[in-house]
Formats: sequence, C-alpha cells, structure tokens
Amino acid sequence: MPRADNAIANQTTKAVIPKVVRMTVIQRDLQRCVHCASASSLEFDYLVPPTKGGAAVLGNLQLLCASCMRLKHQGR
Ligand SMILES: [Zn+2]
Repeated sequence: MPRADNAIANQTTKAVIPKVVRMTVIQRDLQRCVHCASASSLEFDYLVPPTKGGAAVLGNLQLLCASCMRLKHQGR
C-alpha cells in the first residue's frame, strides 16, 4: 500500500471516489502532480467535474498538487 494514499487530500469533491479508483489513479500518475510533477499536497482533480456529470472513474481523474489545483480553479 503506498503511503501516499493516506496523504492525499480529497478536498475538491464531495463525491466519494472508490478506493480502487483512487489507488489506480495514484499509481498511474506515479504519485505526482500531472502538471508540475510535485509529490506534495496532492489532490484528486476531475477533468469533468461531478457538477457537470463527471464520474469518479479512472479516465476522469488526475492528480494535481494544491498549487496547480488552485491555479486551475482560478481559471488561470
Ligand atoms: Zn502541480
């Protein structure tokens, strides 16, 4: 079990991401932010947000660090 699973916050969504999906996303993205490759303060990000019908599935999720998450949601 990667320790990162416990360290990753899940603040961006109120929907529950199944554990197996979270584990797979973490492994696929190598426990790093897909934007800047930071390995700290990682969060799950939806490509299509649940509010727009996005599902908690592998193809709709990526890892972002808190900084990139903030930038993304500021519209950058
Ligand atoms: Zn980042």
